[in-house]
Amino acid sequence: MADETVNQIMECRTGCAACCIAPSISSSIPGMSEGKPAGVRCAQLTPDNRCRIFGKPERPAVCGSLRPEREMCGADAEQALQRLAEWERLTCPGVHGDNGATHPFCGLEPGPSHVVLVKA
Ligand code: SF4
Ligand code: SF4
Repeated sequence: MADETVNQIMECRTGCAACCIAPSISSSIPGMSEGKPAGVRCAQLTPDNRCRIFGKPERPAVCGSLRPEREMCGADAEQALQRLAEWERLTCPGVHGDNGATHPFCGLEPGPSHVVLVKA
């Protein structure tokens, strides 16, 4: 019973926007044709943290499918940012550019768990 209440569906916090900042989004977004890197504000996020294209067809499907829940959203925006950043780190596909630079989406340095692509 306790586990069920931990991850319960909740109302999205107005002005939070942690899920529009912390995670990477691989779909094209107006103003971010290559998608959104992790930890970067979405180009469609207004200064007061609202989505400019909410309800419009150009909004990525992944945004509409994300549902607020306690495990992800935490108690406040700061906690949500931390949790989403950690999930991003854990799920990064780990493919880097040929110059060994940080991964363009997760921002991690190349390492044992990260494949570095090298041009032939
Ligand atoms: S992290 Fe949760 S509360 Fe914050 S904007 Fe996203 S869905 Fe809403
Ligand atoms: S398109 Fe809208 S909902 Fe999706 S990340 Fe950007 S601001 Fe957030």
